[in-house]
Amino acid sequence: MRITHRIGGKAWDGVTSRSGDVYDPATGRVAAQVDFASSSTVDGAVEAAGSAFASWRDTSLARRANVMFAFRELLNARKDELAAIVTAEHGKVLSDAAGEVQRGLEAVEFACGIPHLLKGGFSENASTRVDVYSIQQPLGVVGVISPFNFPAMVPLWFVPNAIACGNTVVLKPSEKDPSAAVFIADLFAEAGLPDGVLNVVHGDKEAVDRILEHPDVKAVSFVGSTPIARYVYETGTRHGKRVQALGGAKNHMVVLPDADLDLAADAAVSAGFGSAGERCMAISVVVAVDPVGDELVAKVKDRIARLHVGDGRRPGCEMGPLVTGAHRDKVVSYVDAGVTEGAALVVDGRGHPIDGEADGFWLGPTLFDHVGTDMSIYRDEIFGPVLSVLRVATYDDAVEVVNANRYGNGTAIFTNDGGAARRFQNEIEVGMVGVNVPIPVPVAYYSFGGWKDSLFGDSHAYGPEGVHFFTRTKVVTGRWLDPSHGGVNLGFPQNT
Ligand code: NAD
Repeated sequence: MRITHRIGGKAWDGVTSRSGDVYDPATGRVAAQVDFASSSTVDGAVEAAGSAFASWRDTSLARRANVMFAFRELLNARKDELAAIVTAEHGKVLSDAAGEVQRGLEAVEFACGIPHLLKGGFSENASTRVDVYSIQQPLGVVGVISPFNFPAMVPLWFVPNAIACGNTVVLKPSEKDPSAAVFIADLFAEAGLPDGVLNVVHGDKEAVDRILEHPDVKAVSFVGSTPIARYVYETGTRHGKRVQALGGAKNHMVVLPDADLDLAADAAVSAGFGSAGERCMAISVVVAVDPVGDELVAKVKDRIARLHVGDGRRPGCEMGPLVTGAHRDKVVSYVDAGVTEGAALVVDGRGHPIDGEADGFWLGPTLFDHVGTDMSIYRDEIFGPVLSVLRVATYDDAVEVVNANRYGNGTAIFTNDGGAARRFQNEIEVGMVGVNVPIPVPVAYYSFGGWKDSLFGDSHAYGPEGVHFFTRTKVVTGRWLDPSHGGVNLGFPQNT
């Protein structure tokens, strides 16, 4: 099968010079080839988006909202199909893929309220018989570049808001699982979105670089690993664009001595191994405050033994394979590194039973205890099913560890002490905080974003900050002629 670009409302019919393999991670077999866009193919997509912008920006809010409502209905009706596409190319189990689509739907529902969201301010009589009002206008063509781990949800974080605000979009999904983006673009077309408003180009660095350099692309929303996020931010802003670039993570879950340890163990296993740890909000470090370490590790170990790992399409599977063989091998190399560096390997995922074909990209859930902050398994984002337990003596030590980490995407505290939780939310240098909630992804009417090396730029994704990112504000100061005009006055305008 061949997967190609969608430009100007049509499947691209050119001949590609480069393409990539798309795998079924549960079998290890190549399922499709995806075309990689050259710079000139990206130019074609930007041109299509640029041509569509003139009329889309002037399409009424009511009509734009209608497209969004129609899209919402179609997506809701076909969400199982989209989830199946995600599972086939990413590997996460079907129920998890369905969860990702559902969170994407919430972002669509937020964008359905665009007439309300774009209301500006109005000040009557700011000066005598002078009215001042603000309007939010679209930017033009915007680029959206998404990672492999949420092939449906991350495009849906950005595309509905960008379009609803009146922009036109060039979406570059991950080349590892590109079909979800194509499905979304086709549904938008069915919902009545005019040709050229949403274009999809596939590819790698060449396509991304052209988006970052193209003079007609006004803004870029990026989600991916920290080194690429930093590169995208620096390159895009150097080319005069507005950029929000969300990066990697190392999310800590702090467990205080008064916590419900069964709840904490359930949460650590769910958030550590869901989607095989390939979530930017996965918990990868449990910070156990003395004396809970031994008991908590025993409870986590016990739960891991019962996890059903296998092909995400098979009933009962809770955790699927990793996305590619290369990524699985990289994650396994961290398991070796952890042992070499002296951490205690409590559960070795390489021995976990697998309910799937032997050539799938498998690694079972892995647990390290007594991890030190100098070890690579702690310092690096592994992005796989490897959970580290760090032991500290006090609450203050736990906060110090989290705040010293270069990442600041998500964190959670498990405690029954409201005062401690309140201190934690105040003191912790992380953008999204959970209190007895391990994966605190904000609902669609708030905004999503980490701190420190987890986000470059000053706008978080979706919600109110998403609308802010995709619009620029204009302030109009107006006076209709009346007999009171006072002739020439070279002084600076004062409000009287
Ligand atoms: P990645 O950085 O490898 O790729 C992200 C996107 O950038 C893809 O579209 C890819 O094609 C493109 N890309 C890759 N290399 C590039 C290069 N050298 N130059 C230009 N573009 C390039 O990330 P990934 O492996 O697809 O996704 C996993 C990462 O994304 C993890 O680090 C994860 O934490 C992060 N992530 C972050 C969030 C968040 O909200 N902060 C959400 C999801 C994923």
